[in-house]
Amino acid sequence: MTEFRVGTGFDLHRLEVGRRCVLGGVEISSDRGPVGHSDGDALLHAIADALLGAAGLDDLGTLFPDTDPKWKGVASSLLLTEVGSRVRESGWSIVNLDAVLIAERPRLAPHRARIRESVARLLAVPADRVNLKGKTAESLGPLGNGEALAASAVALLARD
Ligand code: MG
Repeated sequence: MTEFRVGTGFDLHRLEVGRRCVLGGVEISSDRGPVGHSDGDALLHAIADALLGAAGLDDLGTLFPDTDPKWKGVASSLLLTEVGSRVRESGWSIVNLDAVLIAERPRLAPHRARIRESVARLLAVPADRVNLKGKTAESLGPLGNGEALAASAVALLARD
């Protein structure tokens, strides 16, 4: 019988004008980008936490503590690749991922296909196992006025 596990992830990063913007491992042209100890890629952080949660492997902050200078400025794509390896080493395979980016800007839609390919490549799964959705925050609060962006994700894993 196949055993399934589900996990969720959430992340939020402050946005700063003039900062490089990397989302889902893809560099996006934007007047602002996420601030973080790493590159601030909230979408990959949420996806990584969903995978770790499903596999019962704690969370991103425990595996890659932001107090460790080793991870300062690190590309989150490297972190997600490492998470994918650990999930596989624990005997799980990724059934699918679904993620939501909540941001007034940058908008996800023009970059969706590229980001989807990027996440799938980092996790060595077909792109049809990765789905992304973009939402705005109706101009309300820090998400709605472009001061921050947030992401949430759900992952399903299977083990035969
Ligand atoms: Mg983060």
